[in-house]
Amino acid sequence: MLNLEPVVGLEIHAQLKTKTKLFCSCPIEPGAEPNTNICEICTGQPGALPRMNGKALELAAKAGLALGSTVNERSLFSRKNYFYPDLPNGFQTSQLDPPICQGGALEIESESGPKTVRLNRIHLEDDAGKCVHDEKRGRTLVDLNRAGSPLIEIVTEPDLSSSAEAVEFLKKLHTLLVRLDVTEGRLEEGEFRCDVNISLKPKGSDKLGVRGEIKNLNSFRYAGQAIDYEIKRQSAIYESGGQVLQETLHFDPVRRETRTLRTKEEARDYRYFPQPDLPPVLIDREVIQRLKESLPKSSEQIMNWLLSLGLREETAKLITERKGAAEYFEKALSLFSDPKRLANLMAELFLPLCQKENILPLQAKMGPDKLASLARLMAVGTLGRRAAYELFPDLFQSGESPERLAKDKGLSQVSDPAAVASLAEEVIKAYPKEAKDLKLGKEKMLNFLVGKIMNLSKGTADPKAAGQAIAELIKNLP
Ligand code: ADP
Ligand code: MG
Ligand code: ZN
Repeated sequence: MLNLEPVVGLEIHAQLKTKTKLFCSCPIEPGAEPNTNICEICTGQPGALPRMNGKALELAAKAGLALGSTVNERSLFSRKNYFYPDLPNGFQTSQLDPPICQGGALEIESESGPKTVRLNRIHLEDDAGKCVHDEKRGRTLVDLNRAGSPLIEIVTEPDLSSSAEAVEFLKKLHTLLVRLDVTEGRLEEGEFRCDVNISLKPKGSDKLGVRGEIKNLNSFRYAGQAIDYEIKRQSAIYESGGQVLQETLHFDPVRRETRTLRTKEEARDYRYFPQPDLPPVLIDREVIQRLKESLPKSSEQIMNWLLSLGLREETAKLITERKGAAEYFEKALSLFSDPKRLANLMAELFLPLCQKENILPLQAKMGPDKLASLARLMAVGTLGRRAAYELFPDLFQSGESPERLAKDKGLSQVSDPAAVASLAEEVIKAYPKEAKDLKLGKEKMLNFLVGKIMNLSKGTADPKAAGQAIAELIKNLP
């Protein structure tokens, strides 16, 4: 057995969240009728001139800043030439040197503790269209709606050493970019996809082996499976004394195996040259500074803050990771400062409903002020836990004030002494023997009688007030 270890590097493509394409004003609209969002620029008509989308540039810089990259005030577009039917220009407009961002890193939790994965670069480029294979009629159609969509490509150094680490990295990067609002990140729409590069080398050696590159994986699970398969395939080749070839492969998720697409092209095969139709990309130092200041807190910062408020680790993690949850929580907390109660309501009731409706927390009809009022009603005893949970789906759907809804539904706890006293009187009349026993010292009769008050009030009486009322009344019994 050879003692080999895997080396993995990733190239991630994320579609930037802009209204229009990278070099023209065609809208970005997943699911649109094929070939409706196209123009002379994104279909590569002769003489059409591209114009850079400023928002895309800002989003790319923002991603870089959050990842600790250096943002270049001046970068360049190049043409990457190749032929494919979904590429109307005959080239992709990408960045070779210098790209918009260089360097940076993302830290992940690996089996052996925290691990820093270095980034090589982040560059801007446009997407290709799509070939749609019509198996029935044996033809292929081209849809150019996606052609010209803005992408960033994030390239890591070969710092990962297993499929588990790669998947952890992808998930963490995805969460970060979505939270930054850099990408919508819908995997099924291909808005976040990656190429994985895998090689094997003798354990401890610092010379890298020949790699296989698997293209276009748009699921975390497939990325992991593809890496594992490729590690096995290459090991078998080395074990039998063979040589791994540098190849570009495709992963078949059904058969869970990789297939050769082509032997590897080198950068020179693309005949990169500066894109003469676009001026250098400039971004002011002040804009970079403003973007830096507008960055949301990092997830580590949010997590530490939540833990410092005394939340349980799981709850803090949920609020940190769910997009928009920390902002919602912060607003609610500014209105009623009972972090644990608010966080539990969010984790158990609010966030699952948001997820079910597929909305962000701050888009819910039930705003943070309503969650704060609900928590307050519970804290002062007007609303019991059971009643609050029962009420919640209605609160969420209607966005009504919790006080009002609780009253309308008769769920408010009755703690008004006069009201509780009259309930207690009724119960004592109905159960004279039990009341007498209590008076004679049979303490457990208290629970029995309070239970009867709860039944009579359909669970709305405040149990503590009920107990006090009974204790008061039995004093007067003969
Ligand atoms: P290309 O753009 O031609 O695919 P790059 O040199 O830019 O090649 O590398 C692309 C990715 O492949 C990077 O993430 C890099 O870390 C990774 N990579 C490069 N060499 C290896 C190797 N021998 N084994 C594993 N990953 C590698
Ligand atoms: Mg590559
Ligand atoms: Zn267009």
